[in-house]
Amino acid sequence: MKKGLIITIDGPSGAGKSTIAKRIAERLNYRYIDTGAMYRGVAYAFKHYGLSDKTENGLEDFLKGLPIEFHFENNAVVIFNGCDITEDIRTPEISMLASKLSQNRTVREFLTQKQREEGASGGVVLEGRDTGSVVFPNADIKFFLDAHDEERVKRRFLELKTKGMDLNMEQLKAEMKKRDKDDSEREIAPLKIPDGAIYIDTTGLDIDTVTEKLLSYIRERL
Ligand code: C5P
Repeated sequence: MKKGLIITIDGPSGAGKSTIAKRIAERLNYRYIDTGAMYRGVAYAFKHYGLSDKTENGLEDFLKGLPIEFHFENNAVVIFNGCDITEDIRTPEISMLASKLSQNRTVREFLTQKQREEGASGGVVLEGRDTGSVVFPNADIKFFLDAHDEERVKRRFLELKTKGMDLNMEQLKAEMKKRDKDDSEREIAPLKIPDGAIYIDTTGLDIDTVTEKLLSYIRERL
């Protein structure tokens, strides 16, 4: 029997998905599944082993043998070779590599399968780019969060700055633009508004307001 709803939240970078997904999961006592952390974890491993993002030979076995663990409670904790890399996967360099690797069919199939296993029993909020379109197209409720470009860049800039990263706003803006474009235009599981998703523009809205907005839709299905 399912332990609760399957809720998906997709959208471009900086739209507020992680913050909102975490809040919703806390309020409902659900698990929060940060699917982007999984792409980032694999990207970290590629960098660690000096692999090119074009690597295809033996990729499936490599992925299956990776010493990586994802722990999802109300935050995504990523362990690689016994070390906690949760913060290390948040750099702009890993963001760009994750986006490149997310175009690879073998990587996508491997992670999509893991995400389905994590979410199948319900009581989950999944957040990413394709959680409502590909991972769980029959989710109980799907959201697509968006915001104006300038605001998304500003939010991400402040988030990374708070983590102590030294950044150039213009460079971050260019990287986010490229990542969103690549994520939206890729062949497999591109970022798009999933069928049946509720579209929410978070521009100018604070976290509490957006959280309540989503919860009001969710309560109708509980
Ligand atoms: O959400 P986050 O910024 O952590 O995701 C990093 C990258 O991982 C995205 O830019 C995207 O390329 C990829 N990703 C994906 N599908 C998901 C989640 C993330 O392709 N469901």
